Amino acid sequence: MPDSPAKLPKLFSPTAIVAAVVAAMSIFVLGLLIWKAVEARTTALAQGERDIRNLTHSLAEHASHSVQAIDVAMNAMVDLLKYQKPRVDRFNAALRKTADALPQIKEIGVIDPDGNRIYSSAAELPAHNNADRGYFIGHRDSTDASLHISEPLQSRLTGQPTIVLSRRVTREDGSFGGVLFATIETSYFDNFYQAFKFGPHAGITLLRLDGIVLAHWPAGKWNKEVSAAFKAKIEQDRTGYTKTTSPFDGRVKYLGFERASQYPIVVTVALPEAQVLAAWHDDLRNDLLVAIILMGSVILFAILLGKEFAKRTKVARMLREREARYRLLADNIADVVILLDRNGRFLFVSQSVETILGRNPDDLIGKSCFEFVHSDHLADVARATSELTNWTTTKTVEFKTFRADGSEVWVEINFKLAGAAEDHHAIEVVGVLRDVTERRKMEDELNALNIRLSELATTDGLTTLANRRSFDSALPREFRDREQISLIMLDIDHFKGFNDTQGHQAGDECLRRVARVIADATTNTTALAARYGGEEFAIILPGVGEQDALKVAEAMRLTVRSLAIANPAARRGVVSISLGIASRSAATASETELLGRADLALYEAKRSGRDRTVLASSLAGDNHSAGRKQYA
Ligand code: GH3
Ligand code: MG
Ligand code: MG
Repeated sequence: MPDSPAKLPKLFSPTAIVAAVVAAMSIFVLGLLIWKAVEARTTALAQGERDIRNLTHSLAEHASHSVQAIDVAMNAMVDLLKYQKPRVDRFNAALRKTADALPQIKEIGVIDPDGNRIYSSAAELPAHNNADRGYFIGHRDSTDASLHISEPLQSRLTGQPTIVLSRRVTREDGSFGGVLFATIETSYFDNFYQAFKFGPHAGITLLRLDGIVLAHWPAGKWNKEVSAAFKAKIEQDRTGYTKTTSPFDGRVKYLGFERASQYPIVVTVALPEAQVLAAWHDDLRNDLLVAIILMGSVILFAILLGKEFAKRTKVARMLREREARYRLLADNIADVVILLDRNGRFLFVSQSVETILGRNPDDLIGKSCFEFVHSDHLADVARATSELTNWTTTKTVEFKTFRADGSEVWVEINFKLAGAAEDHHAIEVVGVLRDVTERRKMEDELNALNIRLSELATTDGLTTLANRRSFDSALPREFRDREQISLIMLDIDHFKGFNDTQGHQAGDECLRRVARVIADATTNTTALAARYGGEEFAIILPGVGEQDALKVAEAMRLTVRSLAIANPAARRGVVSISLGIASRSAATASETELLGRADLALYEAKRSGRDRTVLASSLAGDNHSAGRKQYA
């Protein structure tokens, strides 16, 4: 087969195509998702760092200003107390005014060198002694004039955690004159920090540079001191930002810190990673949802596509198999299957054309089928194709064509329209062609045989004249058709004697010779000469009258006599014939009557001496004519 299925392009399975598409789409969507997530996370972390650093800076400034305001106020008071001992009521009023002006101050007051309050902004002078407090001992034992910030202490006045800012009061002579202090309840910072509403796991810590925690929000769960490593870090850097695990709740957090500009205090802001990335997480969740919906749609589409592909593949396979089957049929039947376009050009020719016409199917494609029709039959073929007017008509034509070697072949073709009924441009003609040369030959032989047979049936074998049967069938026909018709009955005289003396074979030869004379006399005329039986002959002369018939008869009689065939039995010693003639007249009722009269005339010719012609019209009792005539 020229077009084997192996030549068809190899197709990928629909499942593979769909899987590849889904995989590609998945990779694409997933890649996009990951890329966007990574980008957004980086951005979110950078934004988080900026926010934390800004916040830390603001809070460090706030803490610094809170302390600085008190420090400035205390600075003037320390100078005053160095040289004077102000009146209690007036100084207390000044202290109260300061405390009112600075809301961070819970109490501001002065402790004498024994640890007792001597001045206070409180309504009543607290009675307890503070000589045991660390800051008191520190100032008493050191001449350092700078501000001291204590660790959180439990206030003896309020019972609340409190930070004490204190300065040494040094007398003019340099001796210890007591301590000027101001207290800030840690709740002051707590309340301030709370206003930021960071969520439960954020943390803001105010601590001293030595690592002691002064305040922590949210209140409650905080260590008193930070790790040594962190302490080292804040001592080294003014600001910083780091990812860390919270010592307070164990969560991973981003931590920013900044040291206050003028005081050894540091603010840290810690936001849990989850919070920094909360918006990112939300976006990621949304993106994931979109991706899932997208992928779901893709997979759904892929499934539908896969099913459609599978269906198409199945149909394509069925078509291929069907085509292969038809091709197998077309190529293996002895007949040639052809397909022509509207203009008679070959679209398809089956392989069997090789056997029948010795031609290669591929060489015929595109050529006009009329090129291969013998010129004698072109019109027949063209007519047959043009008569294909509907889908059910089939036309059969026999015509001569040529083999590749030039020899002629008789073929028979059966045409029928093919193609899609609704598309007139796609109409094609399908033809089944077979070699009928053998059949034609047999038909020709059969025709010849039939002709011969009909000749045999109507001809006398010995004389080749028409036989009695054809005479019998011709006579009524001619009698019916002709107004004028004559009949000659003819018999060889003394033929029995001829046979007896010359032999039967000579008799046959004599019959043949007499028959030849009869045939010659009637050639090229409408006359029908027949052997009537034995040595008797009859001649129908349509359109011939009595006198003309007589001429023919006499001519034959004389010719036979002139043949001079010896017949000892005859009167003159040679073969002679006797003839009777009857011609149709108005009175002749039928051909039988005509035949009977001719017979009677012949009988009269015999009776009256033979070798003569007698006209029936001349016989006595014949009412067709007046006189009686014989010719010899
Ligand atoms: P008549 O002059 O009265 O006609 O006498 P006849 O002898 O010719 O007539 P008859 O009817 O007595 O004889 C006819 C003979 O013709 C008899 C037969 O032997 C002969 N005959 C008939 N048919 C054939 C034939 O086909 N071949 C031969 N050789 N002889 C034939
Ligand atoms: Mg005879
Ligand atoms: Mg006879």
